[in-house]
Amino acid sequence: MKSMSDIIEYENLKLLNAPFEDAYKQLFNETLQSGWYILGENVSNFEIEFAKYCDVKYCLGVASGLDALMLSIVVFDFPLKSEIIVPSNTYIATILAIVNAGHIPVLVEPDIVTYNIDPLKIESKITSKTKAILPVHLYGKICEMDKICLIAQKYNLKIIEDCAQAHGASLNGIKAGSWGDLGAFSFYPTKNLGALGDAGAITTNDEKLYEKLKYLRNYGSLKKYFNKYIGYNSRLDEIQAGFLSIKLKYLDQINLHKKVLANYYFENIDSRFILPYVVQNFEDVFHIFTLRTDNRDELKLFLQNNNIKTEIHYPVSPNKQVAYKEILKNQECEISEIIHKTTLSLPISYYHNKSDIFRVIDVINKFK
Ligand SMILES: *Cc1c(COP(=O)(O)O)cnc(C)c1O
Repeated sequence: MKSMSDIIEYENLKLLNAPFEDAYKQLFNETLQSGWYILGENVSNFEIEFAKYCDVKYCLGVASGLDALMLSIVVFDFPLKSEIIVPSNTYIATILAIVNAGHIPVLVEPDIVTYNIDPLKIESKITSKTKAILPVHLYGKICEMDKICLIAQKYNLKIIEDCAQAHGASLNGIKAGSWGDLGAFSFYPTKNLGALGDAGAITTNDEKLYEKLKYLRNYGSLKKYFNKYIGYNSRLDEIQAGFLSIKLKYLDQINLHKKVLANYYFENIDSRFILPYVVQNFEDVFHIFTLRTDNRDELKLFLQNNNIKTEIHYPVSPNKQVAYKEILKNQECEISEIIHKTTLSLPISYYHNKSDIFRVIDVINKFK
């Protein structure tokens, strides 16, 4: 029996993975015994399954979400220092991928209501050097991809979707990762579909891009010791692919569970807090559940004092990060900074239950 003094953690990866423990152990034994650990059947099976899940023709397993993004940019061979449009309030990986690929991140502010890139602010940032738009489906809500695709068409830009927080999210029934030229996924352990280590994937309907990416992730080579491209070492491990295939069967159930928990928050948290925006034709997967309040730091402390752990996604906007001061200079981001100052993420893991969430709600509503 849980009591009020038990800590409600923000996330607990051991508990999150407990339901899959037996299947994982069996998979580990099988993989160990197979003696085949890199680019084998587990990876190709997972790629087929995940492509199907995302309603795309192809999926390519890679080493991480960052690599999925970076390879998705590199594959186009844009001239060095091309401009790529990206939301100003994303996780740093999105911006780092652009920088690592040799290009310039051009920040576009989010819509303060959806927290996703504001389609109305994209066109004024497009120049002759712009080559791509990199929308991020933040917190599990897909961007307004219908509008973004029209802009990309008009200016002949590529679209690379950052789907690291949006496995299974959709707009008008069309899944994240199937709208753009490429979709980049992370399977970092905390994501809705998480491995037991680093892992990522790229989704696409474009056969040519898929074929080239197969080379790029493996030293630019498909035939051992023959290198067609310079390439990278960014392969998805057999063992992680196996774990992912196991969990993928439960992804819809995981997303549904998080949606049920989110609905408890929506129906019961006081209206003085700003809750995420929900719209009918957007299927959100609630990777993260954020509320916003001017007294964010006090609320976080109050919850902490009541044994409830929260997180901030994210405390510092990319343009204010020490490492990016030079790269992102003169790119003002007022709206991002408001979000970064006021946002607080509440517990919403697959292992949390109704009573956990109601305890969180109870404490939040008592906050003065
Ligand atoms: C997690 C995440 C990434 C990076 O994924 P890794 O697997 O950690 O490299 C990229 N973009 C966003 C929005 C993320 O949340």
